[in-house]
Amino acid sequence: MGKICLIIFAIFFFSELNAQKKESAILSAEQLQQIRAKATELHRDLDRVTPGKEAGPPSDAIVLFDGSSLDEWQKPFFEYSGSMAEYHERLPLLKGGPYVTRPADWKLENGALVVVPGTGHLVTKELFGDVQLHIEWLTPKDATKRGQDYSNSGLFFMGLYEIQILNSFDNETYSNGQAGAIYKQYIPLVNATKPPGNWQVYDIIFSAPKFSESGEILNPARITVLHNGVLIQNNVSLLGPTCYIGQSYYVKHPEKLPILLQDHGNPVRFRNIWARKL
Ligand code: MG
Repeated sequence: MGKICLIIFAIFFFSELNAQKKESAILSAEQLQQIRAKATELHRDLDRVTPGKEAGPPSDAIVLFDGSSLDEWQKPFFEYSGSMAEYHERLPLLKGGPYVTRPADWKLENGALVVVPGTGHLVTKELFGDVQLHIEWLTPKDATKRGQDYSNSGLFFMGLYEIQILNSFDNETYSNGQAGAIYKQYIPLVNATKPPGNWQVYDIIFSAPKFSESGEILNPARITVLHNGVLIQNNVSLLGPTCYIGQSYYVKHPEKLPILLQDHGNPVRFRNIWARKL
């Protein structure tokens, strides 16, 4: 039996070798090179996206604020506070939406969305997991303010993971709390801040964290941030939700949650906000 197998194998092997010899005799070295190169080419029909004009939203974006209304925003369904104790208490109660609350109550002024200090945060009605976000913001000039009180706001993905908004042009504070910091987790790579009173831009890629059924973290949240076109956070892995005091760690939450804008007691302004779900 073994001999028969060996003979069949030998016939197959030599006929294959012969075929290859014939092929290489027919094809030139250049043609063979082309065949090899093509073998690793991938072809796919990608969705077409028309780039926006003058930083306007691209064709497939969800426009969250275009200067005309606060319709895409509402009050949060719980007040995010940056405390691990409260995350433990509140996140397990979230059932994935929809969450209908009260209308947004910040000011609409000259095409800008303006924080009304003391009214509380705003969240998007739409829920997001992985997302690309564009937002423009302005910290007003105010010589009476200092540190974390000088035009503080924040952009929280899933209402939990904050990229700091602050005047960081001429204002001392801790580095992991300045503009562009992943608050208390990652210092920005550089300071790309413009002087207060100028419109500034964040373009952000956010990847939502992934959890197992039992609540273990499988993939941490990741963030890339361009500030005024400059890379300041390069695909960093977050430790958990934003904490003001103590160490952060993950607590399981729904796969999609709203984007939150923070009321930190200062009249920070926003305009031209759009998102692309990824
Ligand atoms: Mg803040």
